[in-house]
Amino acid sequence: MNYKHLFGPVLSRRLGHSLGVDVVPYKYCPLNCVYCEVQRTTQLTLQREEFFPLEEIISELDEFLKGRPPLDYITFSGAGEPTLYSRIGELIAYIKDRYPQYKLALLTNGMLLDREDLRRDILPCDLILPSLDACSEPVFERINRPHPELSVTKLIESLVTLRKEYKGQIWLEVFIIAGVNDTQEELDCLCRAIAGIKPDRVQINSLDRPAAEEWVQTADSKTLDRVSKYFKKHLQMPVEIIAKVHLEDLGLELPQELVSNLEALLSRRPCTAEELSHSLGMHINEISKTLRQLNMDNKLNISREERGVFYAWKR
Ligand code: SF4
Repeated sequence: MNYKHLFGPVLSRRLGHSLGVDVVPYKYCPLNCVYCEVQRTTQLTLQREEFFPLEEIISELDEFLKGRPPLDYITFSGAGEPTLYSRIGELIAYIKDRYPQYKLALLTNGMLLDREDLRRDILPCDLILPSLDACSEPVFERINRPHPELSVTKLIESLVTLRKEYKGQIWLEVFIIAGVNDTQEELDCLCRAIAGIKPDRVQINSLDRPAAEEWVQTADSKTLDRVSKYFKKHLQMPVEIIAKVHLEDLGLELPQELVSNLEALLSRRPCTAEELSHSLGMHINEISKTLRQLNMDNKLNISREERGVFYAWKR
């Protein structure tokens, strides 16, 4: 079966063997983060919709899970914001009811969590991984380029409320862009916000694939260490750096057939990750990880043009 909504299982350091479930079209999101690795948001929206019939997603899950594959998590993620899917609550309830042996994780930017109905819908998840990259409005605007009705103050309040209502694990991700959100003032403000949210852990991330905007660069290890030490000193919770996780470290080898197909395509003409995803029938997140690995193996030339980031095979 060719899956439209499932990808992986991918091997992730944070989540182990994780089956991705994508329930929104490319690229619907309330944010347009400058560091987004699936590139710029095309539909900046707060409108929740049933983008795909619930039955279609359930049928793929039933097919994939009928052999009871070993998984550490089933994870809502993808190339947009999963909580925009209006029937996510029913989907979560279905998975928990039919497949209670699997843990469920939700990767979210948290921007819709001011909605009480949505917070209630996601209560059965075992793990929620929201993001908080800024504490002041100007830095939030610069990094996350939100829908005009959003503010970081509202996001922080929503996360505090979620923590009070939700008994599962919350791992809060902070994406560091050197020179933007690592100033003393912003780190102080972030510490106060995180102390109020009380997540179970804080995970510090940085760029490892081409971002939506060229000026965004990977924070060096000195910067990440400094931020990590600062958080550890001021927060009563585990803090870890999750940036620079290479596929090699995870022992993942790319299938030879996939590498050959990519070589054949990219030797003829440069393509974007999105084009490759369509051509090969693979989820954009899987293609992105594959391209990252090939780039680390020094197989690719990467260039940025008006239409996005293009990949070509090195000759
Ligand atoms: S990083 Fe996540 S929240 Fe930000 S634009 Fe990309 S998909 Fe949306």
